[in-house]
Amino acid sequence: MRIPKKTNRYCPYCKKHQEHKISNVSGGHKRGTLKRGSIQRAKKRGLGIGMGNKGRWGSKPTTPKRKTKTTKKTNLTYKCKECGKTHYQKKGVRAGKIEVKQKGKP
Ligand SMILES: [Zn+2]
Repeated sequence: MRIPKKTNRYCPYCKKHQEHKISNVSGGHKRGTLKRGSIQRAKKRGLGIGMGNKGRWGSKPTTPKRKTKTTKKTNLTYKCKECGKTHYQKKGVRAGKIEVKQKGKP
């Protein structure tokens, strides 16, 4: 899904329509609950040992054969050109790939 870089939108701070700069908010890197060092430390303290995976540490849960959700909702921010304040979109749209690009240009 291609999104233009600028649009005219209502600014809740200026209370009128202004030109807004659109940018995509990336989800960021998701870190696991425990890193390798802390797993070793937990085992030394007598945690996370024994039969099975006690809900954590070590083995990962089985991966489903078919992914149920292949798309993600957009998470865009709109920066007002006049006051410089940002606000989020009201509703996200499901899209596989999100690209913020100049209108007209490929
Ligand atoms: Zn504004």
